[in-house]
Amino acid sequence: MMQIYRPLNILGFAYREIKQALTDMEKMFSLLDLTPEIIDAPDAVNLTGVKGAIEFNHVDFHYDENRPILHDVSFSIAPGEKVALVGPTGAGKSTISRILFRFYDISKGSVTIDGQKLSTLTQASVRRAIGIVPQDTVLFNDTIGYNIAYAKDGATRAQIEDAARAAQIHDFIEGLPKGYDTMVGERGLKLSGGEKQRVAIARTLLKNPPILFLDEATSALDNTTERDIQDALDTASKGRTTLIIAHRLTTITGADKIIVLDNGRVVEQGTHDALLAKNGLYAQLWEQQSEPVDA
Ligand code: ATP
Repeated sequence: MMQIYRPLNILGFAYREIKQALTDMEKMFSLLDLTPEIIDAPDAVNLTGVKGAIEFNHVDFHYDENRPILHDVSFSIAPGEKVALVGPTGAGKSTISRILFRFYDISKGSVTIDGQKLSTLTQASVRRAIGIVPQDTVLFNDTIGYNIAYAKDGATRAQIEDAARAAQIHDFIEGLPKGYDTMVGERGLKLSGGEKQRVAIARTLLKNPPILFLDEATSALDNTTERDIQDALDTASKGRTTLIIAHRLTTITGADKIIVLDNGRVVEQGTHDALLAKNGLYAQLWEQQSEPVDA
């Protein structure tokens, strides 16, 4: 009996491992909205020595040929700058992040990182240079330590804890029943939106990319959580080019530049004060968000 049981047991184990790997991959693909049809140019080179200058030059883009999405989008970001993308829903903010990550190719214009055209670079090297903190972070059915560590092969426990500390999530983790070994995900501990976002910030800190892209959570967070995330982000964005898709304008008043999109076009760009003085779309959005909400 044992003779049969052992191989079956091993098979069962292998099956679970494979299934977990597939689940992880599936989640990553849906998380990143990956479009596998983009392939590297035969002579593509690696992006190296990234300082973090980003430029969109007269970019047109469509997902579907019959429906143009971005029209003549131009902006430039200097290394280390903190830049916010704002605008009404459907304006094209997430589309810009997907283009930068090269999930899609543009139909006109160019996108460069440190003067190197994205279309001439290997996708892997571009993605290594950019850390994304998505709105809704996917957590694997594994320990919280693994969920942070997977951003970096061979990360040590000390490095994981340092990243968690900087992301303001270390104390929370230490307070869990099994600390860093606590299981999270569908079959484990459920984390709140704010906690998940801090796990994502810790992951990104561990990856240590020169460019950081944050998709701010749309859902309202309580003041303490918001402040914790803000602190974590301030730490994470130090010395890196940081792009933020901002939904709550109060979080980006200190940005070096705010790019205002509407219907796939850049309609305004400048600092918070300059844009308020302009009295255009940004001033309108600011006004709307300042109005008291009826309970
Ligand atoms: P929100 O603030 O609501 O997230 P956004 O400014 O990020 O909006 P995008 O997600 O960039 O807007 O979408 C811009 C436009 O592109 C929208 O009209 C949207 O319907 C369309 N779009 C987005 N993703 C796809 C896709 N995968 N295929 C086809 N159209 C898409």
